[in-house]
Amino acid sequence: MAGVELGDAYPEIDDHRQLLETALKCQRCRLRGTCKQVVFADGSPVSRIMFIGEGPGKDEDIQGRPFVGRAGQLLDRILEAASFNRQEVYITNVVKCRPPDNRLPNPDEINLCRGYLEAQIRIIRPAIIVCLGSLASQVVIDPKARITKIRGQWFQRQGIKIMATFHPAALLRNEGYKRPVWEDFKKIRDEYHRL
Ligand code: SF4
Repeated sequence: MAGVELGDAYPEIDDHRQLLETALKCQRCRLRGTCKQVVFADGSPVSRIMFIGEGPGKDEDIQGRPFVGRAGQLLDRILEAASFNRQEVYITNVVKCRPPDNRLPNPDEINLCRGYLEAQIRIIRPAIIVCLGSLASQVVIDPKARITKIRGQWFQRQGIKIMATFHPAALLRNEGYKRPVWEDFKKIRDEYHRL
């Protein structure tokens, strides 16, 4: 299993605020040239659970917070149904700047941005990571991961339990994903309550 390691990206930074301030000034890849702002994270930086999506969309780019558009509103409803409060969880994306026209981020953009994700994981040290969708699963769990094959299973790396499930945007396109996502969230909730 090869994916994100806790790694030593930004070793000089051991504080969430400092990492945020560094990211907000970032110009490392071309995405910063077309987005309105860097969308770093939302929720609690001392949370035991981290949700990772793909990248900001149009609404997120405008508001500066991840998961605030239609997919984000659906995520809020799923979190609420699973007894999570959005303020108690930590939510971020693989890339922190909106890819133009909501295209997938390119591999070089992912590689240039992944240090922030590695540092977020190192600093926050969540007990559980939930990968929302294929891209996050491939970056965090395994570059060859297929979401339909690996969703709902627990992986473990450096003491962190990791599960992938469908991205809320996929649920908006395919109602058939609702039941598996709910099954996954029940496992995630049960594991969180065991902590
Ligand atoms: S996507 Fe990441 S690497 Fe690229 S400019 Fe934004 S913060 Fe920097």
